[in-house]
Amino acid sequence: MEAIDRGIFVTAGAPAYLDSPMSIGYNATISAPHMHATCLELLKEHLQHGMRALDVGSGTGYLTACFAMMVGPQGRVVGIEHIPELVSSSIENIKRSAAASSIKDGFLTVHVADGRLGWPELAPYDAIHVGAAAPQIPQSLIDQLKPGGRLVIPVGTLNQDLKVVDKNLDGSISVRTETSVRYVPLTSRDAQLRNN
Ligand code: SAH
Repeated sequence: MEAIDRGIFVTAGAPAYLDSPMSIGYNATISAPHMHATCLELLKEHLQHGMRALDVGSGTGYLTACFAMMVGPQGRVVGIEHIPELVSSSIENIKRSAAASSIKDGFLTVHVADGRLGWPELAPYDAIHVGAAAPQIPQSLIDQLKPGGRLVIPVGTLNQDLKVVDKNLDGSISVRTETSVRYVPLTSRDAQLRNN
């Protein structure tokens, strides 16, 4: 996180280094730095050199860029975001950051898609992060996790818990709650733009 300057990823003039979420338009927010840090800590064993990571609801691209710094050029990082304008601006942000080479060298890509379906083309993943709260854990994301892999996802509507989902080597699933959180919903693009 010290390598990836948050100032590049927030709206010009916003107080980039406050430990607070901030609006990025389209009824979305960039998560607070302490939430980015919490998720990176929870995923760090699954973001080692050469590993494969999926960032659902990649928004500004901040955490996606951090993933690229951690997995390095032998790894692979995919961001999924359903607002096309945010996909374009996130790519520009990452290109201006310390993770610029990840885009140039092609080991980080960001796609316009419904993240509830994951990104099966590059599955299975060592690490999956979801940056928006789902009503329940999408089965497609569990399916796209590698045995030994970890999914970190906020779950709930008004009251949300950050869930840590581990796929064990025998394929069974363990779920635990890390902490209470408040994220924007993982929903359809129409519902988000209507602010439902
Ligand atoms: N980690 C990002 C969080 C952005 S907020 C950051 O810190 O910048 C959550 C993002 O999830 C928003 O950009 C929103 O547009 C996106 N989102 C919500 N539902 C989605 C869905 N079904 N598919 C893809 N992206 C979604």
